[in-house]
Amino acid sequence: MNKRHNKRKFLLFLLAVLFLSFCLIKYTVDFDNTPVPITVNVPDINQETAVQFAVIGDFGWNSQSAQAVADLVLSWQPDFIITTGDNNYPDGSAETLKANVDQYYGDYIADGRFFPSLGNHDGYTNDAQPYLDFFPISESKANTGSSNNERYYDFVQGPIHFFVLDSTTNTPDGATAESIQAQWLKTQVAASSSPWQVVYFHHPPYSSGVHGSSDWMQWPFAQWGIDVVFSGHDHDYERLVINGLPYFVNGLGGRSIRRFNYPILGSQVRFNDDYGAMLITADSSNMIVEFHAVTNRGTLIDRYLLTDGE
Ligand SMILES: [Zn+2]
Repeated sequence: MNKRHNKRKFLLFLLAVLFLSFCLIKYTVDFDNTPVPITVNVPDINQETAVQFAVIGDFGWNSQSAQAVADLVLSWQPDFIITTGDNNYPDGSAETLKANVDQYYGDYIADGRFFPSLGNHDGYTNDAQPYLDFFPISESKANTGSSNNERYYDFVQGPIHFFVLDSTTNTPDGATAESIQAQWLKTQVAASSSPWQVVYFHHPPYSSGVHGSSDWMQWPFAQWGIDVVFSGHDHDYERLVINGLPYFVNGLGGRSIRRFNYPILGSQVRFNDDYGAMLITADSSNMIVEFHAVTNRGTLIDRYLLTDGE
């Protein structure tokens, strides 16, 4: 009787130890990587045809960190700005758009040089109606109008044809590889004559971050002719290469910073020491993709080169 009791006690003790070690591993092992040294040299860019743009994600939050990112982005004087979503925390309400977005990026929005994508937070009020009313997406001269809506759309800037997707799961035209939206993408990419085809949206198809991979967005992008994919949602920066296609996650635009989980296969660079934004320079044959932290008003963290846009 006593012996059996001791055995049970020991088993319980063992279970407790196992559980505690699991917690310890999960919450203390640091998967956050210092980035690899930058070895890529900047190629000569044809200034006549080149465009330069910034990528910000998960930024829509009236705060010092959002201000620091905006200061960095505006100091670059990019030709235009694209977003990987969550433009207006916490609920995408019309009342917060001015303080969260317009005070930082109002000039670019008014100029039609701001191209947002829909995040989950943008949709929490009236199914994203404040977002759709506020951003002049269909009024932009660059917009081709091929999608006939503002939830997903495409536009051309210099040598790049951009395809902006709505990755929120309740979207009317669907957000899976078999959806109406995906059929639109496949058709429009096939018809595009630009040197580069770039796609971006909120939920990352592959991510080592807290949210992890959004498997419904794992579409056959490479097969359809896409050169690079940008997304956000996880509040970190990550560069991955999956089946030869580069994927970037950038959610360090100002809301908060989160830790990484165990790095998934294909993850090459991970950064979450500070807020930041991406700066991309492209002509018809080279695309230089960089991530800069706001540290010291701009610190280059990662540089990746895509070649042969044609
Ligand atoms: Zn999100």
